[in-house]
Amino acid sequence: MHSLWDDSAAAQHSDDLSLRVYSSRLLGSDPALVLHGGGNTSVKIRQPDLFGQEEEILYVKGSGWDLASIQAEGFTPVRMDHLLKLASLDRLSDMEMVNQLKTHQTIAAAPTASVEAILHAVLPYKYVDHTHADSLIAITNTPDGEARIREIYGNDLVIIPYVMPGFDLAREVAERFPREAHQGTIGMVLMNHGLFSFGATAKESYARMISLVERAEVYLKSQNAWDLPAAPTPPVTVDTTAIPALRKQLSTAVGSPVILKCCRDASIMNFCRRQDLPELAGQGPATPDHVIRTKRLPLLGRNLSEYTEAYRDYFETHAPQARSQVQMLDPAPRVILDRELGMLTLGKNTREAEVIADIYRHTLEIIQRADRLGGWQALLGKEIFDVEYWELEQAKLHRPGKPSIFQGEVALITGAASGIGRACAEAMLNRGAAVVGLDLQPTIEGLFDDPGYLGIPCDITDAQALSQALEQTRLNFGGLDMLVLNAGVFPGGCPVSELSDNEWTQVMQVNLDANLSLLRESHPLLKEAPNKGRVVVIGSKNVPAPGIGAAAYSASKAALNQLARIVALEWAADGIRINSLHPDAVFDTGLWSDKVLEARATHYGMSIEAYKTRNLLKTEIHSHDVAELAAELCGPLFSKTTAAQIPVDGGNERVV
Ligand code: ZN
Repeated sequence: MHSLWDDSAAAQHSDDLSLRVYSSRLLGSDPALVLHGGGNTSVKIRQPDLFGQEEEILYVKGSGWDLASIQAEGFTPVRMDHLLKLASLDRLSDMEMVNQLKTHQTIAAAPTASVEAILHAVLPYKYVDHTHADSLIAITNTPDGEARIREIYGNDLVIIPYVMPGFDLAREVAERFPREAHQGTIGMVLMNHGLFSFGATAKESYARMISLVERAEVYLKSQNAWDLPAAPTPPVTVDTTAIPALRKQLSTAVGSPVILKCCRDASIMNFCRRQDLPELAGQGPATPDHVIRTKRLPLLGRNLSEYTEAYRDYFETHAPQARSQVQMLDPAPRVILDRELGMLTLGKNTREAEVIADIYRHTLEIIQRADRLGGWQALLGKEIFDVEYWELEQAKLHRPGKPSIFQGEVALITGAASGIGRACAEAMLNRGAAVVGLDLQPTIEGLFDDPGYLGIPCDITDAQALSQALEQTRLNFGGLDMLVLNAGVFPGGCPVSELSDNEWTQVMQVNLDANLSLLRESHPLLKEAPNKGRVVVIGSKNVPAPGIGAAAYSASKAALNQLARIVALEWAADGIRINSLHPDAVFDTGLWSDKVLEARATHYGMSIEAYKTRNLLKTEIHSHDVAELAAELCGPLFSKTTAAQIPVDGGNERVV
């Protein structure tokens, strides 16, 4: 644990709130302190109101903001006098608490204040910092955690036994803290939850947080509980072919398709292969608010029905004592620990699966350190249930909001670095799908800055490269729902009388053979698509209306067209749909440079403009037009359609 405080950087921040932003970001940048929206901070500022009357305002982290990237507008100003009055109530429901926070903030447009706002208010210090520091939790979550905390910190901290976050915790602290705090108090430990530090300045509060966490780390090291057991080297290969079926089962349990992300690095494999995994991973999360992301327990192995049954039991056991009327969440796990596959995390999108993976990576370190220290001991099921099912989380279930049509789904697109393929990737990403883009061009890798995008340089005529790409698809996203066969080559015109075997074979290999391989190898994945597999073939106007000099191209596309029709017949039993688009004259692709375009226009004695729109509708066809239709063909609009062949050509006399 190192202090990141930089006096010259801090000097750029002249007022109290801006310093609050600065040190909050320092805390947020260290995942060993807070993870993905965890933790919160505040500052109390006296300022005049509209009538010149001075009042004290608590600026506290607003919900929805992450400490790592928070800005001044991420802090919600709430009137201190009202917060202190609330703290004196005997009871306050979560919903009413949020209502009170909302109605006593001084900027209406500010986000809803953190549910810990009252807790921040009752701590009598200008700056208050709260983290879920890994090393502290590793110590509190042991059978004699409180004694150890005493041993490390002596009288420097106030220790609060576990109380559910929210009003009850604020109330407990409001009562206990004044009794137990003294001049030398620099922080507060919430058992099984996290750490607070405070100070008169941002620097003091931050420095105290760092030094408190450092003391926890030093203690863990002194107890030989810091270094984790040396990790074995995992086997290089693993059979990932079972992942899509597992993803399908999980999607059914969740009620909609999910992304399933596999992590197999040494520290994860080592944990997954521990003999005592059921005792260690079978207790609960490191800190209660992780339950919202990770659920209380991971699935160990692959017996999903056993897990969902146990989850129903857990719900039925605790629901009657719940703090309010509760509705069961889906019974699917969010983390799966498997001896062979490693850690799999699921999310409605890739970002969520990654966040959960991050959280569990920290969790498994915390668990193992606590185990070395004296035994890992998580909170009881009931305590975790109350956080998982607290009113505010339940309220979110009923919030309107339509998910993207391809949320949790995965599309693979060939030839995705440019033109129609790239536009297809964009259309799929825009509809919420994760996308695997394949292309010969190395630029495919960084094509989209999106966690749901994976670009793989790949020669689709290379069987091994294709199989590796599908392996990456399984490992990164869990399976495949939609396949867009777009890659193709169109060599320059050549009459049949001069067409070499070599050119013919080359065109056939890319436009036909590679697509057969990809279809065949993708079939086991598409079969397991939760919403049924879909394939879109980017064909060509040349299928219904071939042109002279394009024998190899036209024949390859016509054969591919026939292949697609057979696939429609054979795979309908698996619910897989396959439809073809026949675009024509799409000029914003890699094939058409300005020079080629000009040459063709001149050849026909036309202006470029006229050449681009030589179709019945006199309209220009763009990659985007083809891609949008390709994406829609995979959507619900076409759910009853397979083996369709749709022209995207502005109308062509030879086709109609
Ligand atoms: Zn907390």
